[in-house]
Formats: sequence, C-alpha cells, structure tokens
Amino acid sequence: MGEGGRSGDVLRLTVVASAPAYTRRAGHASSCYLVELGADALVLDLGHGSFAALGARRAPESLAAVFISHLHPDHHIDLVPMRHYLRYACQPPAAVPLHAPPDLRRRYDQLLGEADFLGGMPGEELGEGTREVGRFAVTAQRVTHIENSFAFRVEPRGSPGTPGLVFSGDCGKPGDLLPLIRPGDTLLCEATWGVAEPVPEAAHMTATQAGWAAREGGASRLVLTHMLDTVDLEAALEAARGEFDGRICVAAPGLQLSVD
Ligand SMILES: [Zn+2]
Repeated sequence: MGEGGRSGDVLRLTVVASAPAYTRRAGHASSCYLVELGADALVLDLGHGSFAALGARRAPESLAAVFISHLHPDHHIDLVPMRHYLRYACQPPAAVPLHAPPDLRRRYDQLLGEADFLGGMPGEELGEGTREVGRFAVTAQRVTHIENSFAFRVEPRGSPGTPGLVFSGDCGKPGDLLPLIRPGDTLLCEATWGVAEPVPEAAHMTATQAGWAAREGGASRLVLTHMLDTVDLEAALEAARGEFDGRICVAAPGLQLSVD
C-alpha cells in the first residue's frame, strides 16, 4: 500500500464478524467480510449480528453486492435488517444486488410471511462460475457442507495475476478449495474445530486442514476464522503452521489487511 496509488488496485479485506454459529463472546457477530477495491466494495456473508457492525464501517447502500455462501443462518440472517435498512432508512429506497444460493428467497418469504421479502435486493441465484460485480470478479465453487454451499474467490476485474481473496465459506473437505486458490492468494478459511477432533457429519475443518489447503493451493497468507469459542487460538495457529509456512493470523472483528 501507499506506493504511487497502487492501493486502488489491491483488494482490502476487513473482518466485520468472524464468530461461528453461536458464541457467548459479547461484540462478536457471525460471518461477515467486507472486501474493498478503491471506492468499491462487496460483502461476503451477513451472519447474525453483523449488519450493525457493517453499517458502522460503511454505508450499506454503497455496496456493489452481497454474496451468501450457504443457507445456514449464521451466514445470512442479517439480510433481515439489511432489507429493512435499504427499504426504510434510504430515501428513495436503495437496491443492493444479492447473490445467494437457490431457495434463499423462498425461505425468507416463508419466515417473514411476506411475498418477495428480499425484492429490493435483486440478483441472480448463485451457481458455479465467475460473475463480474463492479470492479470485482467473483468466482463461486461448490464445497462439501450442506446442499448448495459455495466458496468464493474475489479478484480485481480485468487484472489476471493479481492476488485474490479465497473465502472457504463452511467447508468439510479442504481439497474442495484447491480449484479456487491461485499462487499468492490470501485464503480466509474456516477452522471451526481448531485442534479438536472433527465431528464428520458437521462438515467443518480443523486448523490443520486449513493449513494444508493453504500450502497445497500455494497461498501466501492464511487467515483462520469461524472457530468455536472453545478453540485454543495459539494451538490452532501452531497446528496451521505445522502445514503452512506463509503468513498466518486469526480473524477478529476489525482486522484489516491488504490482499497482497
Ligand atoms: Zn454452515
């Protein structure tokens, strides 16, 4: 950053919220990551409690898009306050495109008892492949978790070879991430279990598996996220270091880094 305006070409990641499906830690909301490129921005996931944290950092109506990785509520349920905000706090109402897995819209209509509840957030259903959004190119890849779970790679549009950000979403098989990771990328990876024994049917990863994916994919940096409250963070870092000798850190609300 800071080299003759290059900062406008480098992705910047802000961890808005990194908690797993539940937490007792005050001030920690679930899954939400802000990716900025110059003045443009998008959000990956909008888990419970994250909307206020997002709104405190950036005007939500300024986002080029919201991407949702899968249909577990800790990854999207703050679409409810997002929708209310866009509809009632913005005059005229604002529209932010929503890229979400199949069936999400129907589920909100049923939950809220209102037809087309998310109508103010238009956008195509998520499938595998690359779509261009503002200054970003976002590639979605199916991963093993629940039906229609996706990981994402975000890169500056039209800048092949520029380091990208790969976000695992929730993922039970580290090998699923390899098609997305390119050498030099930053891997933002769930490590729900830390160093504990995985519960296979939950389809989440350990810190060791996250480190393995970073190494095998040729990433330059690994950010561990979505870890349970009970995880010993130092032990998780050490386990990941056992697999991957690049830069490693733990996601926490407010963490910012340049994807370089
Ligand atoms: Zn999940």
